[in-house]
Amino acid sequence: MQVPAQFAYEKAGSVDEVIALLRKHGPESLIVAGGHSLIPMMKLRLAEPSTLIDINGLAELDYIRVEGDEVRFGAMTRHGGVLESAVVREHFPILTDAERLIADPIVRNRGTVGGSLCQADPSEDLSAAFSALRASVVIRSADGERVVPVREFHHGPYETAVAHGELLVEVRVPISPGTGSAYHKVERRAGDWAVVSAGAVLTLDGDTVTEVGIGLSAVGAAHFVAPEAEDALRGGPVSDDAFAEAGRIAAAHSNPSADQRGPVDYKRHLVAELTARTLHRAAARARGQEA
Ligand SMILES: Cc1cc2nc3c(=O)[nH]c(=O)nc-3n(C[C@H](O)[C@H](O)[C@H](O)COP(=O)(O)OP(=O)(O)OC[C@H]3O[C@@H](n4cnc5c(N)ncnc54)[C@H](O)[C@@H]3O)c2cc1C
Repeated sequence: MQVPAQFAYEKAGSVDEVIALLRKHGPESLIVAGGHSLIPMMKLRLAEPSTLIDINGLAELDYIRVEGDEVRFGAMTRHGGVLESAVVREHFPILTDAERLIADPIVRNRGTVGGSLCQADPSEDLSAAFSALRASVVIRSADGERVVPVREFHHGPYETAVAHGELLVEVRVPISPGTGSAYHKVERRAGDWAVVSAGAVLTLDGDTVTEVGIGLSAVGAAHFVAPEAEDALRGGPVSDDAFAEAGRIAAAHSNPSADQRGPVDYKRHLVAELTARTLHRAAARARGQEA
């Protein structure tokens, strides 16, 4: 099936209007942002919203700005905006690395940060990167705002903490001095979804790891993270052996499925390898040895 079922269409002009429209049209209505995940699902009749609420007119949600000791991303920031941002490159090269590997310019010009997180595809890249960064999201409804750590945001494949009547409005990422980060992905061809991808965020004090975040995508990692590998590294040395061991731990605790992208053993091998590689690159960046 390549034709969506019939639906009504509303274009919202403000966040308050989105919330009012969600309430008016009830639980069968859906928000459309970039539409790069939702529209294909509608064509396949995997999604059949009664009403689409278009939030592309919400310029108020398209920004990347530094506020205090965090960077804030509006939910309607496009992938391309993240990729081109000097602020992001300076503070979170993990996001710049990830965006270079997400799809192609057509998708990146349209797809949004909020839509990517809310789609919660198990192979989604920004979820892994933001989880590694210990970001939080701001969710707004008629009752006000709540802030949810990204590590508690995903409830499973395609399920998130956003309930009907709510809108993800912002992602907040803390800036930590002495931190470096990196992201890497193995894909079958340029622009494809990940076979496996991994991201690392390392905060160093000399040769000691004081904090670490490891994000994994496409391998069934709960909340897109590898907490056992993080625990093994925290407080320990920056070394080849420690990073290789963290990779082995992340691989052992990952839960990939065999599919057209490869068998389970191959994916576990990639988890170990990509985790160690991104840790090395994050450490080099934390020390200012690599851009
Ligand atoms: C060919 C192709 C290749 C791709 N490759 C990759 C890839 O390699 N890696 C990757 O990570 N992604 C990839 N994507 C997905 C892409 O990143 C999409 O942009 C993203 O999944 C969804 O963003 P969107 O803005 O298009 O969301 P939409 O499709 O508009 O919405 C997705 C879902 O989120 C909900 N939603 C959207 N915004 C909000 C909000 N602010 N608050 C609450 N709910 C909201 C919608 O109701 C819908 O359920 C690919 C997509 C395509 C088409």
